[in-house]
Amino acid sequence: MKRIKRKICCEMMEYNTTNHCSVHTNPFECPDCLIYIDKYNRYGIIIHDGGESFVLIDYCPWCGTKLPSVDPKKIKLPGLR
Ligand SMILES: [Zn+2]
Ligand SMILES: [Zn+2]
Repeated sequence: MKRIKRKICCEMMEYNTTNHCSVHTNPFECPDCLIYIDKYNRYGIIIHDGGESFVLIDYCPWCGTKLPSVDPKKIKLPGLR
């Protein structure tokens, strides 16, 4: 996983948005990976149902900090990384 510089609210979020797993390269395949940040910088909780689905969240589940939200209308497709 590429390390992207962003503000992380707490250690738990930092840990869960960094892929520490040496077995799974895809965060969706790793049961230890709880948070996914998509290409629009939105935060989501990964649903480990075998697919690549996640639930977008507005607040950090650990410390309650409001996460940077992206207005879907402001998202320019494609090109945003
Ligand atoms: Zn947090
Ligand atoms: Zn893993």
